[in-house]
Amino acid sequence: MGKASGPERRKPRSQGEASATAAALKEFLDGVERPLVFLSKASAPVAARARLPAAELARRAHALRERVQDSVTRAHLQELHGALAGWDAAPAGERAGLVAQCLSLLGRLREGRGAVSKYRRRETTVEDDLQSLAQSIQFVPNVGPRRADVLRKFGLMTVEDLLYHLPFRYEDRRMMTPVRDLRVGEVASVVGEITHLAERHVGRMRRRILEGVLRDETGFLALTWFNQVAYFRGRFEKGQRCVVHGKVEGAPGGQKRIVHPEVTPAGDSEGQGVIPIYGKPTAMNPAAMRKIAATAAEGWAARLPSVLPDAVTAGRGLLDLAHAMMLLHAPDADADVDALNGCRSAAHRALVFDELFFLQVGMALRRRRVESETGFAMEAAPQLAERLRGALPFRLTVAQKRVIHEIALDMAKPHPMHRLVQGDVGSGKTVVALFAAAKAIDNGFQVAMMAPTELLAEQHAANLRALLEPLGMEVALLIGLRGKARRNETLERVAAGEVHLVVGTHAVIQEKVRFARLGLGIVDEQHRFGVLQRAALRALGTQNGARGERLPHMLLMTATPIPRTLAMSVYGDLDLSLLDQLPPGRKPVRTLLYSDSRRPAIYEMVKRALDAGQQAYVVYPLVEESEEMPLRDATTMAEELARAVFHGYRVGLVHGRMKGGEKDAVMRRFKDGDLQVLVSTTVIEVGIDVPRATVMVIEHADRFGLAQLHQLRGRVGRGSEQSYCLLVAPFRRGDQAHRRLSAMVETNDGFRIADIDLEIRGPGDLLGTRQSGLPDFRVANLIRDRSLLDEARQAANEWLERDPTLQRPESAAVRRVLAHRWAGRLGLADVG
Ligand code: ADP
Ligand code: MG
Repeated sequence: MGKASGPERRKPRSQGEASATAAALKEFLDGVERPLVFLSKASAPVAARARLPAAELARRAHALRERVQDSVTRAHLQELHGALAGWDAAPAGERAGLVAQCLSLLGRLREGRGAVSKYRRRETTVEDDLQSLAQSIQFVPNVGPRRADVLRKFGLMTVEDLLYHLPFRYEDRRMMTPVRDLRVGEVASVVGEITHLAERHVGRMRRRILEGVLRDETGFLALTWFNQVAYFRGRFEKGQRCVVHGKVEGAPGGQKRIVHPEVTPAGDSEGQGVIPIYGKPTAMNPAAMRKIAATAAEGWAARLPSVLPDAVTAGRGLLDLAHAMMLLHAPDADADVDALNGCRSAAHRALVFDELFFLQVGMALRRRRVESETGFAMEAAPQLAERLRGALPFRLTVAQKRVIHEIALDMAKPHPMHRLVQGDVGSGKTVVALFAAAKAIDNGFQVAMMAPTELLAEQHAANLRALLEPLGMEVALLIGLRGKARRNETLERVAAGEVHLVVGTHAVIQEKVRFARLGLGIVDEQHRFGVLQRAALRALGTQNGARGERLPHMLLMTATPIPRTLAMSVYGDLDLSLLDQLPPGRKPVRTLLYSDSRRPAIYEMVKRALDAGQQAYVVYPLVEESEEMPLRDATTMAEELARAVFHGYRVGLVHGRMKGGEKDAVMRRFKDGDLQVLVSTTVIEVGIDVPRATVMVIEHADRFGLAQLHQLRGRVGRGSEQSYCLLVAPFRRGDQAHRRLSAMVETNDGFRIADIDLEIRGPGDLLGTRQSGLPDFRVANLIRDRSLLDEARQAANEWLERDPTLQRPESAAVRRVLAHRWAGRLGLADVG
């Protein structure tokens, strides 16, 4: 176990300086300990006469604090400094308490990294603790049935949920600002007396507002409430001393005011100090939410399962979960607010490390399990590959060849392949799948391929059939809406092993489908499927009768790239292949952003493309007009475009509410060039390939997610012509929408897009359970906590090296918590 530790240790100023600081710290501790021990043992009269050079010691504690980098040690020195600095002024009766406090701090400081010993393991009671934490929030004092209901709707069901519902921000209200010194635009706390409080009706609508005035020794501050007037009116009264907090605004007449201030009676400690701010149900008062969280922390934090083995916590300066949780919900008076707000506090680090450690242990176990499974070793088929290459209308890219080779090596092993191919839209993933499928079939196996939409399944079936049937391989399409008779016939032929490749939607994994000998499962656009669906596809292989427990190879494909470092961690149980090259001759799509008023110019560009024999998509966010949202919709606009703007051109409409057959017919007409303009919703998002289409117009582009926009753009730029993606959005748009649209204009690179998307949305969304099959993150942020992620991975691997099957006594609790964290997730059910 290395000296590796938290981020603040990562860049020590220098090795020499670090050890000099350690020596100075030790010297200081030695020097201060003797008099303190003496005082603690001395009788009261002796102690009263003794003179401690407290001011000087306080100064030295402070100076040391400035040199030390570890946040926990710093916190202890700070506390020590405070106690010593208060010594001289403290009444004799309080000194014994101060001595005890100082000695306890010395003890912690001596243990090297302040917090090592602070990690109090709780292992024997894990089962009980987890049960207690799983209790309904209704059992938390201050939460009655009604509040419990509101909180549940907000997503907080259990006590544990409540504990992990961390403040998203901390406000520093330790400093009160005199009214005279308030500055417009700043957030401040002011203490004073309410001298005026009255309702008033304003404006043409006679709107009711509440106005108040707070006075301190230096001036008057106006307070205004526009909402919930009656409620606030009743909450406090004239003459009351209060702390008000909020953002200072300029008011008419040079006055200053705070709109909707938070108000707490002065003298009430709630509302002062460092205040945690929580996300909360709209109707709930912030102070009530704080109170509930604080009560839950007090009552249950101690039950959080801090079960990391000593070997894992050693040298990392980790707090245990109970301590960390208290610091987050009820920050100390001397808390470092910047660290809290940056999620860099020791408490945050403790929770993040804990969360990521269990993630990594789970991942490593899953990977090991995969490696121990048996599958089908498939032989190379060089002649077949040769023939396939000859039949393709193009030459494979270097990247395609590499990935096809990686897959071939996997499939030759007696363990099932678990490979994820990441390749940007248009990078040619389908061909890669083709080679894998052909190899499996040549080895006497069947292949199942799953795509997220019928349209896409049909396209794949058509493309693959064209190449495989000349080689004597049978391809069938299986989608939900097929006529029953035909479907049954297909199913029978699949079961008899007559069909070699089945392409379909999730219809493929429905119960009635039986394979004679499934050897390979392929999932296209895998991020559109859940883990369970992926697992179901794999499980079809277990029907392989006499072949027993052997499982098919799995090939997953996705156009949603995630940064490679992250991929290692979040897809830790998969092997990755990267299609990082587009087929040659493609010109990058040019992306332009227009405001609504420039629509005529856009239509002109479209017409020019149509006149040159090319085709265009026009995408809308909705199918039909909607009362709630005044958006242009596909149905209305298709009519209008056909009638007016594109009069004389052939315009078609396709959307998700159309029947499969209808949709299909329209798509086919577009693909064949019979339709020139395709008006649609996002049904065309995934996979559809029409090389003559060169213009993609996206209306209300501000309404789409970044990944979705990038996918849509991927529908054009598939031929040799210059293609355009024209984004139309209102001039006034939200900040996030603006960042998305700018990113689209700025880059065509899917990885860059993924990075930006991650920054905007946060990884919780991007790597949500649905996409990655991971437990949701409660505290960790994979971008922000990258270095902790590495550390956790290393720690997890080291622990598993010592105890590969988690059989050691210390691992019992780890196993239990692991099962809890991954509860219901696939493949780990049997780990716990
Ligand atoms: P995606 O990775 O988005 O699934 P596709 O497999 O649909 O991409 O391929 C996009 C288009 O590029 C298709 O028309 C396909 O035939 C073509 N294509 C694939 N590989 C090559 C290549 N090596 N050279 C030229 N065109 C290719
Ligand atoms: Mg594709």
